[in-house]
Amino acid sequence: MVSPVMPTYARAPISFVRGEGSWLEDEKGRRYLDAGSGIAVSILGHAHPKLVAALTEQAASLWHTSNLYQIPQQEQLAEMLVEATFADTVVFSNSGAEACEAAVKIARRYWHVSGDSQKNEILTFNSSFHGRTLSMISAAGNSKYTDGFGPLTPGFTQVVPNNIDALEREVNERTAAVMVEPVIGEGGIIPLSDRFLKEVRQLCDDCHLLLIIDEVQCGVGRTGKLFAHEWAGIKPDVMAIAKGIGGGFPIGACLATEEAAKGMTAGTHGSTYGGNPLACRVAIEVLRIVNDADFLSDVRRKAGRMRQRMESVVATHQQVFAGVRGTGLMLGLVCKVPNTDVISAAYEKQLLLVPAAENTVRILPPLNIDENELDEICDRISAAADEMSKVPAHA
Ligand SMILES: *Cc1c(COP(=O)(O)O)cnc(C)c1O
Repeated sequence: MVSPVMPTYARAPISFVRGEGSWLEDEKGRRYLDAGSGIAVSILGHAHPKLVAALTEQAASLWHTSNLYQIPQQEQLAEMLVEATFADTVVFSNSGAEACEAAVKIARRYWHVSGDSQKNEILTFNSSFHGRTLSMISAAGNSKYTDGFGPLTPGFTQVVPNNIDALEREVNERTAAVMVEPVIGEGGIIPLSDRFLKEVRQLCDDCHLLLIIDEVQCGVGRTGKLFAHEWAGIKPDVMAIAKGIGGGFPIGACLATEEAAKGMTAGTHGSTYGGNPLACRVAIEVLRIVNDADFLSDVRRKAGRMRQRMESVVATHQQVFAGVRGTGLMLGLVCKVPNTDVISAAYEKQLLLVPAAENTVRILPPLNIDENELDEICDRISAAADEMSKVPAHA
């Protein structure tokens, strides 16, 4: 008989009752070190006092009014995002997939109001992930997510990443935009090179295409800059964010330049909850903390240390790991044994990791994690790999 919760996940047999900082506690009182942050979401750890205060204060006064009215918290958050980025204007949603959907709608609408409705196709990249709505599984075109869900949304073509010639070959008179994750997350922590991202920007300029950047996973300080595309010194026209910006409260946002958003007039888009007072109040607090030069330089310093330590864990456990890749506090361990075995071995060491494609294990700790805890993550991965090296080879 089917479980009351539809069985769409292969869940680990663990559940948590409380969290504090980088730690989660299960119902038996066992403490787990959280190196996954609920998939890059809890970027300030669990139960951060400022986020708890922001949420409870807002909860005691007003939860929801709808977008029929002005929402001051939404306006403030939008102003902060505009101030901190390339963007001139922001539309809010509840998830990353919806933020990506909004990005695609903005791009198509842009060409529609420009008198060029035939320009409606979006170029995306192999291995990318933009969420689980029908259009976003169509956008990523990964059969693991599309199988059995057809007919898919037309208008998306996938190209190999990090190859500007391959991208250029697919541009034609119907191309509206390119949509790219600067660091591919679900696809296995694959950073696109700064050079490639610059070339993509240039191609978009030369061919009059909009550049959509998906920073749902790599944005909001994860790579040591507020947004990952800043490393390449480029600016997008449209950008989707979610995950980290809510610090665990569901919110997404799509940011755009005034020009890119010129078609988005009253009535063109909407969401009942998008930009609700509770979500925005929490996100304001997250952004205040993360968009700070000292906070971000601290992330970069900790990232350098973790990278170095993980390189040595990989070097000393070559039966288990093939390598480490990624950037900032967003690392991927490429495994030689099944990644799910590594994650299970880590559970035994009371460490939480996240799987990704290409047999990779993701390390996505809270950005405010302290140095001892970071070392502890590396030690526990090393201990888990020691256990695995003892058993006869899997492969
Ligand atoms: C997680 C993710 C999404 C989808 O976000 P949801 O909140 O799950 O809808 C989109 N893009 C990227 C890059 C992601 O990592």
